[in-house]
Amino acid sequence: MNHTPPIFIHSTGHIAHRPRILIVDDVLTNVQYLLDALKEDYQVNFELSGKAGIEFAHQYRPDLILLDAMMPEMDGFSVCAQLRAHAETSAIPIIIVTSLDSPEDEARALEIGASDFMPKSVNLAVLRARVRTQLTMKRQGDMLRSLTLADPLTGLSNRRALDATIAKEWRRCARSQVPLSMILADLDHFKSFNDAYGHPAGDDCLKAVAKVFIQAAQRPQDLVARYGGEEFVILLPEVDLLGAEIVAGGVMVALKTLNMAHAASDTGSRVTTSMGVASIVPGMQAPEILLSTADTFLYRAKNLGRDQFVSGMVGV
Ligand code: GH3
Ligand code: MG
Ligand code: MG
Repeated sequence: MNHTPPIFIHSTGHIAHRPRILIVDDVLTNVQYLLDALKEDYQVNFELSGKAGIEFAHQYRPDLILLDAMMPEMDGFSVCAQLRAHAETSAIPIIIVTSLDSPEDEARALEIGASDFMPKSVNLAVLRARVRTQLTMKRQGDMLRSLTLADPLTGLSNRRALDATIAKEWRRCARSQVPLSMILADLDHFKSFNDAYGHPAGDDCLKAVAKVFIQAAQRPQDLVARYGGEEFVILLPEVDLLGAEIVAGGVMVALKTLNMAHAASDTGSRVTTSMGVASIVPGMQAPEILLSTADTFLYRAKNLGRDQFVSGMVGV
């Protein structure tokens, strides 16, 4: 249950850009106290139990959580530990708000990963100041993460992000024994594109092609990455070989529609790509086999005359 007071917006997270704060406390009057202090400046939601708070955090990823230490069933310390243990919620700052005020309790809160600790009777100006500090640090952390994980030219995931996601999806697909597929694409004769039109035009072309790949891979778990200069990867968890071939076919059609001139291409008169499409139900192998197989197929597609894809199962 999400007890959202009428003043607050909420659900998809895209309506307003104000930071979203989640209050978790089993006593409504405590919630009201914090809510009144913060509602002018933030989107505030609340939950009345630890379990509901965790569910909310997974679904809506708030920017900050104010968490009551003493709650029936699941106390704030366990909630904090659980949120820290999951990748999706581990970066959310948590301020423990409590009537406990011994140094031992404060130390315990900080040890399990709370970002800050405040008494329930906290002065409201102090509360607002500490909330601001945590939100600033969260924003800086988010920015740093996106800088280290995104390719600056296209905004796509970079190779570092791709490697991390392959490792994660490999484990997840292995556990549930579902396929993991990959498309490795390399633009055809891109060196001569640069030679003919100039490097800045080459950059614009890469941006346009990046959009084509994003359009082709629409499900939330699909990942599109810039793998290298003019090489892109689409990672497709829970998609079998046939599904991946359909996505690759979609890329071919979309590039045809884009129809970006490439007069210097030996393959045709427009920008085209060759692709290797590989699929596996992950098991005991090393995850690198997916990429190396896709690369082998890509090489074949190049040799067969480019502007096409070659596909197959890993190890077959
Ligand atoms: P092939 O069909 O065999 O793939 O030929 P190719 O010319 O695409 O392959 P090659 O690997 O020889 O050249 C890749 C070119 O991609 C070379 C480089 O100038 C260009 N390139 C790589 N990164 C960028 C970039 O960020 N911007 C631009 N404009 N060009 C880039
Ligand atoms: Mg290349
Ligand atoms: Mg190329």
